[in-house]
Amino acid sequence: MSISLAESKKAVPFSREQLESVLKRRFFFAPSFELYGGVSGLYDYGPPGCAFQANIIDIWRKHFVLHEDMLEVDCSMLTPYDVLKTSGHVDKFSDYMSKDPKTGEIFRVDHLIEEVLEARLKGDKQARGQSADISANADKDNKKEQKKKKINLKVKALKLDDKVIEEYETILAKIDGFNLEELTEIMEVHKIGSPVTGNKLEKPISFNLMFETAIGPSGQLKGYLRPETAQGQFLNFSKLYDFNNLKMPFASASIGKSFRNEISPRSGLLRVREFLMAEIEHFVDPNNKSHDRFDEIKDLKLKFLPRDVQQAGKTIPIEVSIDQAVSTKMVDNQTLGYFLGRIYLFLTKIGVDTEKVRFRQHMANEMAHYAADCWDAELLTSYGWIECVGCADRSAYDLTVHAKKTKTNLVVRESLSEPVVTETVELSIQKKNFGPKFRKDGSKVENWLLKRTEEDLIKLQKELNENGKIKFNVPTIDYDIELDKNFIDIQKVTRKEHIREYTPNVIEPSFGLGRIIYCVYEHQFWARSEDPTRGVLSFPPIVAPTKVLLVPLSNHDDLLPIVKNLSKVLRSEQIPFKVDDSSTSIGKRYSRNDELGTPFGITIDFDTVTDHSITLRDRDSTKQVRGTIEEVIGAIKKMTYNHLSWAEGTKDLKVFESKIEDEE
Ligand code: AMP
Repeated sequence: MSISLAESKKAVPFSREQLESVLKRRFFFAPSFELYGGVSGLYDYGPPGCAFQANIIDIWRKHFVLHEDMLEVDCSMLTPYDVLKTSGHVDKFSDYMSKDPKTGEIFRVDHLIEEVLEARLKGDKQARGQSADISANADKDNKKEQKKKKINLKVKALKLDDKVIEEYETILAKIDGFNLEELTEIMEVHKIGSPVTGNKLEKPISFNLMFETAIGPSGQLKGYLRPETAQGQFLNFSKLYDFNNLKMPFASASIGKSFRNEISPRSGLLRVREFLMAEIEHFVDPNNKSHDRFDEIKDLKLKFLPRDVQQAGKTIPIEVSIDQAVSTKMVDNQTLGYFLGRIYLFLTKIGVDTEKVRFRQHMANEMAHYAADCWDAELLTSYGWIECVGCADRSAYDLTVHAKKTKTNLVVRESLSEPVVTETVELSIQKKNFGPKFRKDGSKVENWLLKRTEEDLIKLQKELNENGKIKFNVPTIDYDIELDKNFIDIQKVTRKEHIREYTPNVIEPSFGLGRIIYCVYEHQFWARSEDPTRGVLSFPPIVAPTKVLLVPLSNHDDLLPIVKNLSKVLRSEQIPFKVDDSSTSIGKRYSRNDELGTPFGITIDFDTVTDHSITLRDRDSTKQVRGTIEEVIGAIKKMTYNHLSWAEGTKDLKVFESKIEDEE
């Protein structure tokens, strides 16, 4: 009985070692500076990696920048100290680390706790005679399995108390939200030391993740390599708002390298120190966060892992439509919901497995204090669930802090069709009289008055009108203060406003393209059951580095002009292709291109010389069809650029039976 393609893709268990060996052997990527021993967290992309990344960038730009008419910018990576001090990165952009005092080895504390507790839970399962595979959380077991190899985590078969198991599971579900004190306490209470030596570790401390540098020869201008592309977009807000003809809402976008000095990058391409980010800053009216294209995505059903589920120590997501998520306020607003939908569509378009995506809400203490809501698109990999896209409503924080620091107005001024009438109570101070009366205390009295609320001022106005003076105490002055109308006046003022001025709020989807690329590699990799050494990367044609492999049956002189002519046609159609005219068997030539993810193969044989027909081969099913050059190129274009399936794209071509695949 034949099995379906989907089933055969799952027949051989996924092996990360095999995938990594393919990716390195075919030079998708390699450690940077390898000849010098390499530096962890730094990688170079080779030809297929570069072509793949270029395709992802191209799709990202079309899916977001063009589809939404976003305003793209490309800003400096070198960023002066003041900018990142104001944004909060100098003080807060840190992770927590702990050192083994005897060996000097450094661990990232939250990751260490996660690994140790997971290993203990696994030990408990072993002691109870349960296999890791039957765990309710098989992905976490897989993750732990992989990490064990890296830091040599020993799993001891040791039964745990039910209460302890529950405690561990709760800590694991909340691991992203703990602060330094909480992590320190967990390390102490649960006796977490170095998994390598068993030594007690030093007290955790925070470590700023930015790479510091000096700009210019004097060394006076301190700067950093940017940790995200966002700041450049905020600082250009006014220019972009002008460029957009003062219309709101609008979004800016930027693609570029960011740098983070990760504490101990161990997970290959997932956690690196230099990576490509693609970020959007959608500027929106704080009083109206609806989105006029919400209808386009509202019925999409996503897997949500909201804050309260995590707080309860659970990790089972809720699957509901975006419409439902927004109307129940699980997701704060329509614009945020709209972007979650667009993110999902982008991810699945480029080859992320729909079954391996979830949206996890940040817990209250994980989220910046100013943020209104924040969701991460997480993808399931052999390392566990990995945050690949952050999507936060950052309220007005960024524009407000930069405006305050630079004494500029980063605001929107909107003409109102109906003027708004406002009534305020205003205080005016006769400054010139304060000095002679209060001398050095003058400014203290003034400050006290300026800090009064509207309610306070109404009371003071009443007192002033009734008694002709007001009496009060200022905490830092040890005598009573008395002021009459020569010093102050308090009046109700009615104003008609024709302009509304506000600081826009920002919704920020932030993508780490390298992480997403690695996840697509994992999600699309499989091995053929008839020969598990034959790995295949089943990239959707649109993202595949090369679309077509051209293989002449032999190097016979009659076939060469046909190869040349077909190459010319493919070049003029701008379809990326490669010719493999080596003397290896056709089966082998196809097989090594399956590892590169090339979706289509064209075979030229001796029939081509006489009837001009060629064979087209499908990478995944290895099915073949035959047709004229025009028919085959037409089918390739439809399947690559119009997203038609093999069945749809080749329905007018003749099925071709051949044993070529098995030839060695
Ligand atoms: P963040 O600003 O921390 O929310 O990060 C935004 C996105 O950048 C994440 O969703 C990841 O995709 C990516 N990212 C963050 N740190 C790294 C890293 N060390 N290596 C690779 N990608 C990263």
